[in-house]
Amino acid sequence: MPTYHVWTVGCQMNKADSERMGAGLEQLGLDWTDNPKQADVIVLNSCVVRQQAEDRVTGMLTSLKPWKQRFPEKTLALMGCMVGPKQDDLRKRHPYVDVFMQPQQFEPLIEMVGDKFGVDPDGCAGPFVPGHPSVTTHVPVIHGCDKFCTFCIIPYRRGREVSRPVAELVEECKMLAARGVREVTLLGQNVDSYGHDLPGEPDLADLLEAVHDRVPEIARIRFLTSHPNDMSDRIIEAVAGLPRVMECVNLPFQAGNDETLANMRRGYTNAQYRELVARVRETVPGVAMVTDLIVGFPGETDAQFEDTLDMVRDLRFDKTHAAMYSVRPNTYAARKLDDDVPQEEKRRRLKAVEAAQEAILSEINAGCFGSTQEILVDGRNKDRWQGRARTDKLVFFDDAPSAPVALGDLVNVRVTKTTPWSLQGRAPENGALDDARADSPAAVAERRSAWR
Ligand code: SF4
Repeated sequence: MPTYHVWTVGCQMNKADSERMGAGLEQLGLDWTDNPKQADVIVLNSCVVRQQAEDRVTGMLTSLKPWKQRFPEKTLALMGCMVGPKQDDLRKRHPYVDVFMQPQQFEPLIEMVGDKFGVDPDGCAGPFVPGHPSVTTHVPVIHGCDKFCTFCIIPYRRGREVSRPVAELVEECKMLAARGVREVTLLGQNVDSYGHDLPGEPDLADLLEAVHDRVPEIARIRFLTSHPNDMSDRIIEAVAGLPRVMECVNLPFQAGNDETLANMRRGYTNAQYRELVARVRETVPGVAMVTDLIVGFPGETDAQFEDTLDMVRDLRFDKTHAAMYSVRPNTYAARKLDDDVPQEEKRRRLKAVEAAQEAILSEINAGCFGSTQEILVDGRNKDRWQGRARTDKLVFFDDAPSAPVALGDLVNVRVTKTTPWSLQGRAPENGALDDARADSPAAVAERRSAWR
């Protein structure tokens, strides 16, 4: 039986694409192997969002060159954001790669592998839904981005926004549920602009409602990543009104200073972002707020960075993904702005954000001590169960011998210890939650009436 291996670097969207690429190859009769060098087909799914990620892909390509030269009959494919619309330079630098594919462009490899192994992909390949998903999985719902923030290469590599129809996504979620998935995360580079390009212009609130109502086997629904300018009241109210949509919102602010925000072309101010967070918190009680930010953007002064730090301290996020600015070729910032904040200063600012965030998380998590959290069990770690709270906090726990739990169960866990990075606790004797309790029709109707 021929085998394949997909190596992935980058964001959740890349991970979801890799799963779908694997599903396509499996439909042609290939089996997964953990060892890339034993595979008949290797796919590298690349990321160029930061220089560090791009360097990892280049390193992997270079290390596979001797393998490919030794086994020319094997197939090496490069997909993802490293592959732009113009590929001449890439082909010149890596002539031993058999096929180059832009994000979500699975067909060229499917055709090539079908030819090689004598399988006609027409009719037998697709839809590319993961065959062996884990209990929590990601579903891309909108591809590309129309925003063109000045630092970001994504629109140049993933193109303009294209939404997938609601009915297709509902069917995909049903298939995933039938394969044991209990939680889906609906993905988009800007997931809040979902649907504007579809007939009838459904929005993300409509999609959340459709998955919630038509796939009740999915116990939890999440979505990411949001853009502050597209997070409508309807979306916020849908999070509040649909019990199986988790109270967790990933809302990048990127910078706290208005001049830096304008240079990034983010389209909002510090005050507008703060007002939006207040509105989300008021509408969705207990919501966890997650954010992304960049330190050391071109021209960012010490005082401007302090505005970012103040935002972190004041808004007390449940998670902060902070990154040092990294020049991305062809973006507006690369062409027009000087990367003038020294690397050492970027590192200092990053550490300041991380230290502030760690202190905040210590306090927020300590507040969970003694509480009971609803956990979706998604793995084992050092003889303990692990899972996520509704707020996406990582939780480790022991089950009671009289009420053992299993992967995919919803469990009530009493928190007995907290750290900045996780909660720990014990599941009570009554074990797994009754699903009906987590999703009572009366509760759904009551909460939903707010946004109808
Ligand atoms: S909204 Fe996000 S993906 Fe789109 S350009 Fe801005 S940073 Fe990039």
